[in-house]
Amino acid sequence: MVRFYNTLTKKKEDFYPIEDKIVKMYTCGPTVYDFAHIGNFRAYVFEDLLHRFLEYIGYKVIRVMNITDVDDKTIKGAKKEGISLKEYTDRYIKYFLEDINTLRLKKPDFMPRATEHIKEMVELIKKLLNKGYAYYKDGSIYFSISKFSSYGKLSGIDLSNVKIGASVDADEYEKEDVRDFVLWKKAKEEEGVYWDTEIGKGRPGWHIECSAMSMKYLGETFDIHTGGVDNIFPHHENEIAQSESATGKKFVNYWLHCAHLLVNGEKMSKSKGNFYTLRDLLNKNYNPVAIRYLLLSTHYRDPLNFTEQSLRQAENTVRNYNEFYKGLNICASEKYNQMIKQEIEKAKKGFIKELSDDLNISSSLSSIFNFIKTVNIFFSKGEFGKENVKEVKEFMEDIDRVLCIIERKEEFLPEEILDLIKEREKARKDRDFEKADKIREFLKQKKIILEDTPYGTRWKKLD
Ligand code: AMP
Ligand code: ZN
Repeated sequence: MVRFYNTLTKKKEDFYPIEDKIVKMYTCGPTVYDFAHIGNFRAYVFEDLLHRFLEYIGYKVIRVMNITDVDDKTIKGAKKEGISLKEYTDRYIKYFLEDINTLRLKKPDFMPRATEHIKEMVELIKKLLNKGYAYYKDGSIYFSISKFSSYGKLSGIDLSNVKIGASVDADEYEKEDVRDFVLWKKAKEEEGVYWDTEIGKGRPGWHIECSAMSMKYLGETFDIHTGGVDNIFPHHENEIAQSESATGKKFVNYWLHCAHLLVNGEKMSKSKGNFYTLRDLLNKNYNPVAIRYLLLSTHYRDPLNFTEQSLRQAENTVRNYNEFYKGLNICASEKYNQMIKQEIEKAKKGFIKELSDDLNISSSLSSIFNFIKTVNIFFSKGEFGKENVKEVKEFMEDIDRVLCIIERKEEFLPEEILDLIKEREKARKDRDFEKADKIREFLKQKKIILEDTPYGTRWKKLD
């Protein structure tokens, strides 16, 4: 049984998805006004671990990560450079996609852009107006938190001092500032970014974007919603209020939040200026796989203090791990060692058991490192057969579907090639084998070899 700590109930709970074997999951994605920093990537790496682990234990995961490409920050950035909002945000979307590739993050099934879902947002706001949960003030539309009786249930905020009808226009504000929040911002001439809609000329507030896009792709009630702890209030609290008021149904069953990446005890953030982008670290020649490992290897609900020293340690660990993996071909004898099979079974059980307990990555990694130690002892004694080599390699490749820390030269493919592979998988599912074969041939000419496995299509690059 898988268990997760649910921010909504404040306890660990057994995980039951709504549909058997299918998990519908929403991740608050980046605001594309700049490069994401590695604090942001701590959240995305935690979500990647969750996604990959659920798939590993047999769930089909349908995952959405939105892209916030219209808000105060993106508008300001585009204006400063004197280019269109689209040109500006396209640039940072491209960088973001490159970064998630570098960190080996699984691309979510849907990455909807806010600007392409204005219609859905307007519909949702109309519902809230009709049901009396929203009101106009000076051309903008606000959500009346006093109308939603369970406002505060996620974050546990104190509502006793809230002045009814006091409103806030900014998308981000503090707990002390709890007020009616903006759903639709009246168009401002100086911004020049607005949509002319049934509810007026304007643009959406940040919170409504996520409610509209999550429900469009995952339905009115879905399984998991994730983010960093800073998202709990006001963003996720407001998402719940908007969505549940509009549908009358529970919005999300399990809320999972990761603790912050810290620098000297403070949250890494743009505003504090204490951040590293992924590219800052790559420019310093750090190994991206070690950055992934560092962000992955601390339990997601424990704060993680970032230092370059800890990154160097992560580099050592990743190097040793890969040396072990690559070295598996040597020292093999003909004699099969039955004990190794048992060790693999034990390690795999430990790996799954620990991750099933609210993604206890540290303990699951310990079980793998203990396994490596034991195997190394057999190695040094020469009690390691060729068949053992194969099964240990297979085991490490198997768990690498979750960890993704094995370094293979052929690991990265450009976005358009990955899309082609997906297209071929779809063609195979639709029994369009002619198209599937054509794509296979095309890729072969580019020296990319495909292998269809029960887990999906794998690829290999020929040198
Ligand atoms: P933003 O672009 O600020 O909306 O952040 C994108 C994601 O990164 C959200 O899920 C945030 O909760 C998360 N995040 C931002 N800063 C940090 C940090 N220092 N540590 C962990 N997660 C963070
Ligand atoms: Zn969101």
